[in-house]
Amino acid sequence: MDMLKGKTAIVTGSTSGIGLGIARALAARGCAVMLNGFGDAAEIARIKDGLAAEFGVRTAYAPADIGDAGQVKAMVDQAAEELGSVDILVNNAGIQFVAPVEEFPIEKWQQVIAINLSGVFYGIHHALPRMREKGWGRIVNIASAHGLVASVSKSAYVAAKHGVVGLTKVVALETAGSGITCNAICPGWVLTPLVQKQIDALAEREGIPLDAAKKKLLGEKQPSGSFVTPEQLGEFAAFLCTDAAAEMTGAALTMDGGWTAQ
Ligand code: NAD
Repeated sequence: MDMLKGKTAIVTGSTSGIGLGIARALAARGCAVMLNGFGDAAEIARIKDGLAAEFGVRTAYAPADIGDAGQVKAMVDQAAEELGSVDILVNNAGIQFVAPVEEFPIEKWQQVIAINLSGVFYGIHHALPRMREKGWGRIVNIASAHGLVASVSKSAYVAAKHGVVGLTKVVALETAGSGITCNAICPGWVLTPLVQKQIDALAEREGIPLDAAKKKLLGEKQPSGSFVTPEQLGEFAAFLCTDAAAEMTGAALTMDGGWTAQ
C-alpha cells in the first residue's frame, strides 16, 4: 500500500459520510488530500487539520459546489497548486431527493443531475489532462446500487447514477493503456446523513420507531441485513488506486450486501 505514498487526491463531498471514509483511507496510505463539501467551517477545519496530524500528510479544502463547472475547475487548479498535482480523483459528492416522477419538482431534478452526474463529468474533464501529463491516474466514481437497478420515487438519482456508470465506461475506454483507470463503486445502504433522512421519513410515514425503520429499510433491499460502512468503502476505493488494480477499468463494482444479486 506504500505505492500511494506521496500521491495527491481530490475527494469530493468529503466533509461527511462515505467521502470522509475514503479521504481517511487515502490519507492513511500517505496521500495528500484535497477535501471538498459543505458544512460548519470549524468542523471542516477540524477534519482537515485532524487528517494532516494523524497521518502526516498535506491536506487542503475547497468549498466548490460540484454542480458548478467553474467551481470544479477552480478546485482542480487549487489542488494542483497547493498539493502539487492531481493523481487521484474520487467523485463522491451527491444528494438525494425522493418523490414520484409526476410530482418530482423540476428544479430538484436539475439539481440532482447537476451534482450527481454533471459534477462527475466536470471533475474528470478538468483533472484528466493533469493525469495524462504524468501517465498515471485513478478515477473512482461513487455511483450506487441505483446505478445498476432502480427503486420507486428516485427518478433523478437513478438516472444520474446509471449515467455515472455509463460515463465511467467511456472514460475507461478513452484512457485505456495510458496508466489511468476509471471505475465506479456501487454501494448499497450506508448509514450516513443522506440515508438517515430517508430513515427518519420512513419512521414518520409509517409511525414506527427509528430502529424499526432502519430494519425495514435494510430488509427491503439489502439481504445482508447490515449497512455497508464508510471505512469499508474507503478500503475499496484505496485498493482501486493501487497498482494491483491497474488492469481494473470501466467496471461498476458493487459493495451492497447482496442488493443487486437478487
Ligand atoms: P452525505 O450526505 O453524508 O455526504 C455528502 C457529501 O457531499 C457531503 O460532504 C456534502 O457536503 C457534499 N455535497 C453535497 N452537495 C454538494 C455539492 N453541491 N458540492 C460539493 N459537495 C456537496 O452522503 P453519503 O451517503 O456519504 O453520499 C456520498 C455519495 O455516496 C453520494 O454520491 C451518494 O449518492 C453515494 N451513495 C450513498 C449511499 C448511502 O447509502 N449513503 C449508497 C450508495 C451511494
